[in-house]
Amino acid sequence: MAGYYKAEYIWIDGSEPTSKLRSKTKIVPEGQEPPIWGFDGSSTNQAPGSNSDCVLKPVFVCPDPIRGGKNKLVLNEVLLTDMTPHPSNTRAACAATAKKYASHDTWFGIEQEYTFFEGSKPLGWPDNGFPAPQGPYYCGVGADEVFGREIVEAHTDACLVAGLQIAGTNGEVMPGQWEFQIGALASPAVADHLWVARWLLYRIAEDFGVNATLDPKPVKGDWNGAGAHTNFSTKEMRSNYQACVAAAEALGKRAKLHIENYGFGIEGRLTGLHETASYKTYTYGVSNRGASVRIPWQVARDKKGYIEDRRPNANMDPYVVTRLIVETVCSAADAKGGSKTGAKASTNGAARGRKIPAKKKAAARR
Ligand code: ADP
Ligand code: MN
Ligand code: MN
Ligand code: MN
Repeated sequence: MAGYYKAEYIWIDGSEPTSKLRSKTKIVPEGQEPPIWGFDGSSTNQAPGSNSDCVLKPVFVCPDPIRGGKNKLVLNEVLLTDMTPHPSNTRAACAATAKKYASHDTWFGIEQEYTFFEGSKPLGWPDNGFPAPQGPYYCGVGADEVFGREIVEAHTDACLVAGLQIAGTNGEVMPGQWEFQIGALASPAVADHLWVARWLLYRIAEDFGVNATLDPKPVKGDWNGAGAHTNFSTKEMRSNYQACVAAAEALGKRAKLHIENYGFGIEGRLTGLHETASYKTYTYGVSNRGASVRIPWQVARDKKGYIEDRRPNANMDPYVVTRLIVETVCSAADAKGGSKTGAKASTNGAARGRKIPAKKKAAARR
């Protein structure tokens, strides 16, 4: 139809214990921005049938790489009909916290791990029994080690066309398991990009008859789980090693609160085995992939940079995780007082050396 474009409205539902993505299509006259819209919240665990209307408020719009042309993907916040945030809306609080601590200029880079399933088994696994044990699959090559690369390539291209800040991809330790990274970006933009990248992953895998899952422990036993390592820095950390250590210390003081909000089923993944630290203890260390929080070796060498919170599950909500990290690390830095002096703004360290968009620019896009 000439004179119109398709807007795919995407939102996060109220499913328990882990919310799911939903989407539906609106035909919008060309030249018009995607307007406020609505949906039946009684079908998404977001409202009772007697009062079922929920509101969709566009917050992030990008080109639709699947439909192409003028078509758009539209990520939404869910509101109640009085235009206040719906209880399932975790983005509103994330945005408010980001604003409160904006002077810290926090960046996030999130490593999203996931697993392809075909029917009831991971992609490429034999019909009966198990593949050869873990070892060769991480960053592997060859048809005996790699399953689903064509989907990964299609997803990466789609993220690029959509303008998402995807930073890289790699095959993971368990066969059929993969990772992509989003960032470095401020919050909530990093979470907006990640949710849209997740939607694209499901949508593209659908065309291959494959299901992508963020299940944190998709196969029980001696197989790696799936996480969402969250790398982050403040302006001060990017110029000062003591600030990196202080951030790791601050996270330790609120370890229980973070663990409780880092994704359902985290106890099954953070066992202390398979490159994890137990959910019961909090540790940090340089280069240590068995710690809760890792200080990368380059950061220890350069005496500045960022730290990696290795605890979040693959199924975490990035609005919740980034909000908690900003709150914990920035409030501790503020409480110390004077710690902000001497911090210089740095544009290094971002993925691909791309400059972090100014907050104003990001806001204008939303
Ligand atoms: P790993 O070695 O743990 O697999 P990855 O290369 O997968 O690490 O991911 C590292 C992530 O850290 C990337 O998403 C990158 O954008 C992010 N990153 C790099 N520098 C910074 C920084 N200064 N602040 C926040 N995130 C950063
Ligand atoms: Mn990684
Ligand atoms: Mn990984
Ligand atoms: Mn990592």
